[in-house]
Order: sequence, then C-alpha cells, then structure tokens
Amino acid sequence: MLPVQDVFELLKSPRKIFLTTHHKPDGDAIGSMLAMQHYLNLQGHKATAVSPGEIPQFLEWMPGTAQMLNYEAQPEESLKALADADLIFCVDFNDFSRTKHLESHLQAATQPTVLIDHHLFPKDVWTYGWSIPAKSSTCEMVYDFILAHEGQSLLNLDIAACLYTGVMTDTGCFRFPVTSASVHHMVGNLLALGLDHSKIHEAVYDSWSESRMRFLGYVLIERMEVFRKYDSALIYLSRKDMNLFNVQSGDTEGMVNYPLSIAGIRFSTLITERGDEIKLSFRSKGDFDVNTFARHYFEGGGHYNAAGGRSKSGLQETIDYFKRILSDNHPK
Ligand code: 5GP
Ligand code: MN
Repeated sequence: MLPVQDVFELLKSPRKIFLTTHHKPDGDAIGSMLAMQHYLNLQGHKATAVSPGEIPQFLEWMPGTAQMLNYEAQPEESLKALADADLIFCVDFNDFSRTKHLESHLQAATQPTVLIDHHLFPKDVWTYGWSIPAKSSTCEMVYDFILAHEGQSLLNLDIAACLYTGVMTDTGCFRFPVTSASVHHMVGNLLALGLDHSKIHEAVYDSWSESRMRFLGYVLIERMEVFRKYDSALIYLSRKDMNLFNVQSGDTEGMVNYPLSIAGIRFSTLITERGDEIKLSFRSKGDFDVNTFARHYFEGGGHYNAAGGRSKSGLQETIDYFKRILSDNHPK
C-alpha cells in the first residue's frame, strides 16, 4: 500500500470519487465518510458517499446524510456512482467483507482505492492508504489527512461536526485510553472554529425513544449474566425481545458497555439475534485482547479493547458455546 500522501497528486485535478464505510455504520464510520466528502467537494471534486446499509437514527442529523446513498435501498444509483468514479475511498474498515453486499463490487472495481482506517490487520488490497491502529478514530485520521493536504483553511463547521461525532463516539466520550493528547488538540481546534459540542452530544446520546430506555431496563434485569469468577458479563438479545420492544436499528448501540460499569468487570459481550445470523460485540478493559478472541472464535476482529464477530449457530447454541470458551478466555 502506497502512503496516502501519494494520492494528493491525483487530487490536483477534479475527480469523481466514491466513498464508503462499513455495514451497520457507527458515528466514526459516517463521520469520517461525510467529513471526507465535504472536504473533497469543497476542493471541486464530485464525491458521492454510499453507506452499505441503513444508518442509525441517532446519526440522521449529520450534515450530508440527505445526499448520502444507502446501497441496500438504492443499489442501482450506488453502483452507478461506483462505476462512474475515478477513485474509491474506504474509511473505518479494512476488509471488503465489512461492507456486506458491497463486497463483491468493491473487489471487482478497477479504480485506485484509498484506505483510511484504524482497525488491526488490514487486508493488503488497497492502492493507497493509512492504517494506524494507534489512532483513536478514523475521524482523527481524516483530520490529519486534511491538515497534511490543504490544511486548516478548508475546515468548516460541517466538517467539524462530522469529525467531532466520530472522535466522541469512538473514544467513549474521550475516556478510553486511545484518547491521546492529539485528540484533545484536534477537538480544541474544532471548538475554536465555533463548533457547538454540547449540541452534538445531545443529538447522539439524548435522542432515545421511551421504548429504547425501557428495553435497556428490561435487558439489564432479564438478559444480563455476570460471571464474577471471570470478571466478565454477557447480555443476549433474542429477536423476540427486540420485536416486543419494537427495537430499531441503532437501539442496541452502546449496550455492550453497561456491564463494564460494574466494579471489577473487565470483559463484556453482547449477543444479538440479527437477520439470518448472530452478531457478537466484545468490549474489554486493560489487557484482555478481544480482537484476538473475536478472530479466533467468531470470524471477527476490530481493536484490542473493542471487537465484533458473528456466529452461524442459533442464539442458545451461541450462548452455550460462548460460556464454554469463557472458562479458558477471560481477563486474568
Ligand atoms: P461493534 O461491537 O460496535 O459492532 O464493533 C466493535 C469494533 O469491532 C468496531 O471497530 C468494528 O468495526 C469491529 N467489528 C465489529 N464486527 C466485526 C466483524 O465481524 N469483523 C471485523 N473484522 N471487525 C468487526
Ligand atoms: Mn472507528
């Protein structure tokens, strides 16, 4: 993979650019994709942002979502944008399979590709890119890209709002160990531009429906198991549970973190029955490596302290399997 700076040469003339991110996008995924799109368009390029699927409701306020395409809902327009593009930007994922139904189209694309991402172990398929797992978020990397390219003068409030959202969500509101001095420098710079950070926090975190709040209460009482012996906890959600509370896309976001607020708990897992598969989310504190755990047992990956995976078995079978492997895989 060539360094991302080599793409600056290509950006000297106006390009048609296809931007995408991972399926089930989070704040960092949408934030980095839209920030990059705003930035590229300001420079006279024609950038189209395509999400592989729907975006959660708590991100719908973000500047640029109205023009964004959803591949699952608008496959033809999305594939046309891909076919027309001179250049493809992939942000916040490092393996085409993370784009679900877009995977085969990205694989078949012949245009140069650019990766900007902070997950571990990137696939070696991109032409240009930055893969820096030490970075807090892809949004921080898009900020670095902008500063390295044209610099500060092209930052505006739309870009700032997108970047702030991704850094805020990926750092757990600036509390995870990845929250480096460079993150605070960046945020200081965005605030100096006039960014209203409280409004963004409110839009993302204080936008729950009443049923989402009640669902959380139900889940913590009925669907959370704590394994004191292993400093670990598990939450599982069946399709039936989610139908009962009319759970929407994005309503389970952050749920995996709750058990980590129990003193002594250092490993938390969320198992969700979703569509035709079981989705797993893992979070840890300290030196329990959930990236390796997710890769080894659940065809997944991510970061050292936050990862995800999947299972083709049923919900109960997956829960039983998880409990079996937990006895040999837990924080020491
Ligand atoms: P989440 O639990 O929020 O879905 O994901 C946590 C982290 O792991 C995110 O950075 C996400 O990109 C990554 N991740 C989630 N699911 C998968 C997966 O199935 N495969 C890989 N490689 N990474 C995943
Ligand atoms: Mn991210």
